[in-house]
Amino acid sequence: MTVITNHMPTAELQALDAAHHMHPFTANGELSQKGARIITRADGVHLTDSEGHQILDAMAGLWCVNIGYGRDELAEVAARQMRELPYYNTFFQTTHVPAIALAAKIAELAPGDLNNVFFAGSGSEANDTNIRMVRHYWALKGKPTKSVIISRKNAYHGSSVGSGSLGGMSGMHAQGGMPIPDIHHINQPNWWAEGGDMPAEEFGLQRARELEEAILELGEDRVAAFIAEPVQGAGGVIVPPDSYWPEIQRICDKYEILLIADEVICGFGRTGNWFGSETLNIRPDIMTIAKGLSSGYAPIGGSIVSDEVASVIAGDEFNHGYTYSGHPVASAVALENLRIMEEENILGHVRDVAAPYLKEKWEALIDHPLVGEAKIVGMMGSIALTPNKEARAAFASDAGTVGYICRERCFANNLVMRHVGDRMIISPPLVITPEQIDVLIERAAKSLDECYSELKAQDLLHSA
Ligand SMILES: *Cc1c(COP(=O)(O)O)cnc(C)c1O
Repeated sequence: MTVITNHMPTAELQALDAAHHMHPFTANGELSQKGARIITRADGVHLTDSEGHQILDAMAGLWCVNIGYGRDELAEVAARQMRELPYYNTFFQTTHVPAIALAAKIAELAPGDLNNVFFAGSGSEANDTNIRMVRHYWALKGKPTKSVIISRKNAYHGSSVGSGSLGGMSGMHAQGGMPIPDIHHINQPNWWAEGGDMPAEEFGLQRARELEEAILELGEDRVAAFIAEPVQGAGGVIVPPDSYWPEIQRICDKYEILLIADEVICGFGRTGNWFGSETLNIRPDIMTIAKGLSSGYAPIGGSIVSDEVASVIAGDEFNHGYTYSGHPVASAVALENLRIMEEENILGHVRDVAAPYLKEKWEALIDHPLVGEAKIVGMMGSIALTPNKEARAAFASDAGTVGYICRERCFANNLVMRHVGDRMIISPPLVITPEQIDVLIERAAKSLDECYSELKAQDLLHSA
């Protein structure tokens, strides 16, 4: 077989990719016609592709490279750990230092009595753990009928059968037999798209009260938990009205429903605190973590579990786990990532420098004729593209048509900004500097201008 390297011509690499590599969340037939973009290396906030373009990665990979690319310390720790103990499991009454150290560190960083960590290889796996853990918790407490988990439409909780069922992505549910039984979805707090004439705060309350209605309808004795992202990420960085979370917390407390905060994106600094639950003032019983835990340098996720839930689960053998739960190399890398975040005060950089600067620049995009809403929490932001801001109108074209055009303009301008339908979203590395934010905004504005011209040329500036 030929040795395949970065130095091969792009077209050859693309042909091999098309021939053998099935991409996630991709129409592979269409992609193989076009050829995938090949990323060859990365440093700081920049990617380099096989054509030599320097691209500003305003998505931090997939919301994960929080400390930026190219940190040698993580590579060194991984190599050291591979030499010392590349693998051992944590199933049969054994453990190892990286898992011990990482669990202890996470317990120290997590708020309240969230002192217990069940490791997984990804966010999807961790949410699968959560489904089984909350149901088993209630069974152990003598309430086995409490098995329904309430989630939200347009939520993203992963792509396995369990976590994809928790998620509220209709396109995913349409394929492969999801959702599994006993998952119930309520509406999302997306005021811009769904709030109609209602003031945002009133709408937030109304959407939160759908949780109470669902509990009463299903019966309190049937409901195990509610799961939500503090700020919806993959759904389009949907920032809930301020009224939303306090009401959700009140309802969970009143009916003694376990609250699972999916912190896979919001965790580890993205919102300016260690966890989004702190920023949004939520007191979860379980938090899902992954992504920023290792800054994406190694695949690792987990569930941070309250003392109360963990002590009940400890009363029985929990017949659940993954070969790579607490993988020593991934754990060592995550631990080093957290050390760097603390020692370099990356949260301080977010809070005092990057987030306030980005907020000012990002919110100013509202002046662009295409932008109907500009939202940002910490280092995750979104803009809604619209043909008519006053009416908060959607485009007449299929959702995502305009977003895709805008995303293509961004790529052409060496900026990775993602589209979700016709919303554009960013989630840059937390270490981004004000100078780099200027470049991000400049390229975003230029891409919006070019998108606007293209929409006019294609006669797409029509409201639904
Ligand atoms: C990415 C994501 C997941 C899934 O994590 P994977 O590591 O891709 O399995 C779960 N929840 C949220 C909120 C996410 O953004």
